[in-house]
Amino acid sequence: MRLAIHQFGYNDDNYGVLLHHAESGETALVDAGDAAAAKAALAESGWQLTQIWITHHHGDHTAGLAALADDGVEVFGPAGINGVGHVLEGGDSFAFAGRAVEVISTPGHTLAMLNYHLPSEKLVFTGDTLFAMGCGRLFEGDAPMMWHSLGKLIALADDTVVYCGHEYTAANASFALSVDPQNEALLRRAEAVAELRAAGQPTVPTLMALEKATNPFLRAADPAIRAFLGMQGAGDAEVFAEIRRRKDSF
Ligand code: FE
Ligand code: ZN
Repeated sequence: MRLAIHQFGYNDDNYGVLLHHAESGETALVDAGDAAAAKAALAESGWQLTQIWITHHHGDHTAGLAALADDGVEVFGPAGINGVGHVLEGGDSFAFAGRAVEVISTPGHTLAMLNYHLPSEKLVFTGDTLFAMGCGRLFEGDAPMMWHSLGKLIALADDTVVYCGHEYTAANASFALSVDPQNEALLRRAEAVAELRAAGQPTVPTLMALEKATNPFLRAADPAIRAFLGMQGAGDAEVFAEIRRRKDSF
């Protein structure tokens, strides 16, 4: 039986996700930035929380943790966060509803950043590492570190469904077009995103194949982007760093 997935918004642009397995009754919440929003989503679905998976320490991903983590709720996450009972590192895995959840360490936005991959479901939760057409700002890590982290996500199967922490897609599309203006897939996607947002619809989740085709932060090796930046001879990490630098001041 497939997992049921319920994505909900909170704050201005955050997303939380509930995962539910009907047979076992297990329910996981990815990130706990807003207890009231998560509780409302749980009430609406009628699901009872059994696990919380935290991606990173920022308040918009953790502020609701104390209010959500009742007895019987197992909390997984990186080191250094109050309320995380199961401290994880990259390469670890744990079970949810009989499925393996594989932990991928993706430092860059923060040093302790975990992404959660369910290979059997072709699902990945990327927190603030990979966004639709974007990537997280480098608050704690540097560009080579983030490029290495993104490489771990690039290695995932093309048909992997990607859930991320924020609805930043429309702004990311504008930036993507500024460095990759001739990319037909990007042009089409920017239009589709504008239509979704005009209709009040989320643009998340996305698909790994679509990110590889349109997300400039995954495309540092792309000849057209390199030519546009005049960086044909540079290393991929240098090209990534230049794209990230441009986005910071876009
Ligand atoms: Fe963050
Ligand atoms: Zn965030």
